[in-house]
Amino acid sequence: MEQARNRIIIVGAGWAGLSAAHHLLSAGVPGRQIVLLERAPHVGGRAFSFADRESGHVLDNGQHVLLGCCTAFSRLLAALTRDPGVRFQPLLSIPVHADGRWSTIESRRLPGPLHLVPSLLRYSHVSLDGRLRIARAALAMMSARPEELDSLSFRAFLEHHGQSDEVVERVWDLVGTAILNGHADQISAGLAVEAFQIGFLRGPEPARLGLFTRPLGDLAAEACASLAAQGVAVHRGRAVAVTADEGGATGVVLADGSHLGASRVILAAPHDQARALLPDGALSSAAWLDQVRYSPILNVYIEYEAPVMDPEVAASFAMGGMFVFNRGRLLGDAERDGRLLSISVSAADRYRAWDADEIARTVERAVADMFPAARGTPAVWRKVVWQPKATFLAQPGLGMRRPGVRSRLRGLYLAGDWVDTGWPACLEGAVRSGEMAAAAAVEDGL
Ligand SMILES: Cc1cc2nc3c(=O)[nH]c(=O)nc-3n(C[C@H](O)[C@H](O)[C@H](O)COP(=O)(O)OP(=O)(O)OC[C@H]3O[C@@H](n4cnc5c(N)ncnc54)[C@H](O)[C@@H]3O)c2cc1C
Repeated sequence: MEQARNRIIIVGAGWAGLSAAHHLLSAGVPGRQIVLLERAPHVGGRAFSFADRESGHVLDNGQHVLLGCCTAFSRLLAALTRDPGVRFQPLLSIPVHADGRWSTIESRRLPGPLHLVPSLLRYSHVSLDGRLRIARAALAMMSARPEELDSLSFRAFLEHHGQSDEVVERVWDLVGTAILNGHADQISAGLAVEAFQIGFLRGPEPARLGLFTRPLGDLAAEACASLAAQGVAVHRGRAVAVTADEGGATGVVLADGSHLGASRVILAAPHDQARALLPDGALSSAAWLDQVRYSPILNVYIEYEAPVMDPEVAASFAMGGMFVFNRGRLLGDAERDGRLLSISVSAADRYRAWDADEIARTVERAVADMFPAARGTPAVWRKVVWQPKATFLAQPGLGMRRPGVRSRLRGLYLAGDWVDTGWPACLEGAVRSGEMAAAAAVEDGL
């Protein structure tokens, strides 16, 4: 009983749950009072790695990237891992390919949003008139109040500020889809504008691209081991319900029928799974959880017989916008530098009905279009990784109405990339939500 009274259970050892545990420890909660409950065989949730049977390569479920503004995630990695495994570009630089030409979106050491102006003025994938119009939308974004734009789609906002289809698709959507996992006509202008304000318009530092140099699964496993070394109990098991009495949350029921008592529960599961665990009436915004849906991300790995790609990262408008990563180089595998590529397609709904072979062949053709060396070089291996539930889709009307970390039930808190942090569904949002949930749980000190 004594133990249960002090215990805090965190349901879910994704990055939101790992962050919650770390911030509880940092606030002085003894590790022995914290239980991290995870139902999957791995920790790290939707950012995981696996060994591919055919090739033997360790692959991520999707190539993740960060921006310089992802400070909470970077701090967490620094605190819990020996090598944070992220290399930030000194300045944002993404070569973009279209119609046989390259043009680079890059920052200069100038204050925001001027840091992007020189490269956008030279950006040859849109007409001169289009380039001049970009500044108009950027200025409108800088002074906009995101909460007033939630019911509007990002495309409607951009059109209202004079952006042609060409500029929407070749500038805003290319970048926006990668960070919001939704195309401009699918997502809330409020959340999109907020993301651009945080990530791109404030200056060159927040806009730097961070590329992972270690498999994601290794980072999560190491972070979790560090928490365990500080006394946090990591339990394998699935919660099936949060229990409560008139005083508030009392713990969770596990799939084997046992009850784990606690005075505080942090639910750090994805939105639909959290919904299934919530006691009736625990959330005033439960309707949000029923309305919101997932957006898929597609990742294709291709290994070529010889090097085909020189940069670490490049983009193309093929597949509705795709980013190509030189995974061999990023992971420090000299033998596969330029040969092992990882190609990421966000908001990949349109490929749902395609079979893996068709996807791989189409992506391979797009890569050959970008890199001449790939045209005569056979691919020795390909793998398509489909993640249908990658992130929630921040639809207009839903993007900015997310539940906060506090529930209506005393002692029950919410964390996860879907919780209202002001960030899109991403690692940084997940980590911030964990920090906020831990702070609320400590503040309530039940
Ligand atoms: C392919 C792909 C590419 C992505 N690219 C990027 C990117 O480039 N940059 C970026 O920042 N983000 C990216 N994301 C998003 C990012 O991975 C997620 O936003 C983040 O991992 C979510 O973390 P989370 O802790 O909120 O949730 P999750 O990672 O889903 O963790 C929740 C955990 O709870 C566990 N759980 C659920 N129910 C229960 C239960 N009943 N009992 C016990 N445990 C339970 C789950 O098993 C899981 O481990 C990408 C995601 C995918 C899938």
